[in-house]
Formats: sequence, C-alpha cells, structure tokens
Amino acid sequence: MKIEVLNPHGFCAGVTAALKTAQSILAGGEAWCLHEIVHNELVVASLKAAGMRFTDDLSLVPEGATVVFSAHGVSPAVRREAEGRKLKIVDATCPFVKKVHTAARAFSDKGLPVVVIGKRDHAEVKGIVGEAERAFIYPELPEDGPLGVVSQTTMNADEVGAITAELAKTRELETMAEVCRATKERQDAVKAFQGDALLVLGSATSSNTRRLCEVARCRTFLAGTMDEVCAMDFAGVEHLGVTSGASTPEEFFNKVIDRLRGKTK
Ligand code: SF4
Repeated sequence: MKIEVLNPHGFCAGVTAALKTAQSILAGGEAWCLHEIVHNELVVASLKAAGMRFTDDLSLVPEGATVVFSAHGVSPAVRREAEGRKLKIVDATCPFVKKVHTAARAFSDKGLPVVVIGKRDHAEVKGIVGEAERAFIYPELPEDGPLGVVSQTTMNADEVGAITAELAKTRELETMAEVCRATKERQDAVKAFQGDALLVLGSATSSNTRRLCEVARCRTFLAGTMDEVCAMDFAGVEHLGVTSGASTPEEFFNKVIDRLRGKTK
C-alpha cells in the first residue's frame, strides 16, 4: 500500500499557542480549563496528567482560582462571570477566533443582526453568538433587512462560500465569513488528494478534523488513537493518504506513519 502524507498536518499556530499558554500556567501551580483546551483526547489527557482540571461549568471553579479559556473562546457573559467571581483569567483563545468575535461585535454595534454559519452546540459558536445583540445561527435568519455574516473558523470552506453567495442574492451583507487558514489549507490538500482512501487522524469531537472527512473525494477512515488505527481494515486500499486535524499531536501522527510503513509494530 502506498502511503502519502498530506501537508500541512499537526498543530496549527492557534493550538500551539494555546498549549504553550496552558503549560506555562501549570508550571506556576494548579489551574482549571473551561472546556477542552482543544478538541483532542491525547492533548487533554496529557494536560490532565500534568495537573490541569477541566470543566464545562464555570461555577465549579473555586473563587480566586486560575481559569484558562480554551482556544475556542468564550462569550462576554462568561468572561464577566469569571471576573465577578475573582477568577484569574488566562485567555488561550485563538487569535483567529478573536477576529470573528470582533467582527460580530462590530456588526452588532452598527445595528446589524449577526448570522453565524456554524454548529449550534460548538463552544466557538456559543462564544461568537454572545457578542451580538441579535444573533441567528444559519439557516435561521431575520425576516428582512441587511445582515452581518460571520462563520465558525472550522467549517467547510466551500459551504461557507456557497451560503454567503446565496444570501447575497437576496440580502444586503457585510461579511467576515471565512474559515481560518489552517482549516482551509488542510481542506485544500484533502480535496486535491487523488488516492483511493484517506486516513484522518484526530478526534471525532474536533470540528476541523471532521470537516476533512467531509471534503474528501474518496473513502475515509477517522482515528484518534493508535488502538483505533490498529483496529482499521485497509484491505483493498492501494493508495492511502494520511492527514490530521489542527489539534492532533505531531508525535502521534509520526507514530502512525511509522506503523503504516512497517517501521514499528
Ligand atoms: S484551527 Fe484555526 S481557529 Fe482553530 S485554533 Fe487553529 S488557527 Fe485557530
């Protein structure tokens, strides 16, 4: 079986920075992280082992403790709650996500309803929605009038483009609806891959990882751990591409490549 490594793979800049922040905080003592710092079980397990405590409920963080906001960002209301409880805030929000927050807030300040192209349950979307006076998660829309449009950073880039173009046919738009560069580059590499199957390494909970499976033009396999890779049946595959989500550790990626190439067992 031919193994082709697709580029880029491994951590994006936003994940690298968030993990550096989390590690430096842990070096100074106990800390809590609101939500998974990034959506990857290997990363979360390794931070847990280093002493990070994870919660989805801010009220469980003891008053005065250090709380890390994950790379996905939080709404202004969550930030205010943390400040009100005198928590020491360490913000690991990805700069690209912050850009989307700023755009949503600017649209809202101009009086525009903000339409978010994204997944309702995703932490990033909840944070963005919290910036706007009136927010709608696509396909929900206000009945008429101009719109400000933004997107979750890890959506399918083609889909975001198509939705925006469709909206522009009937509505006046101001838009900052685009996925981040890391997401776009990985999707472009996957769409260009010409083999007969693709192995995507990353967690099923990771939005940008799942999108890679969606945009592939061949059969896909998704694995977040070595056990999952070992359980996979690649029988009949002649040309396997391997890529990863932006929160998948490079160390895991390299181990999988070595295993597939028969260098390790
Ligand atoms: S995938 Fe994009 S938005 Fe998410 S952390 Fe990486 S650069 Fe930031």
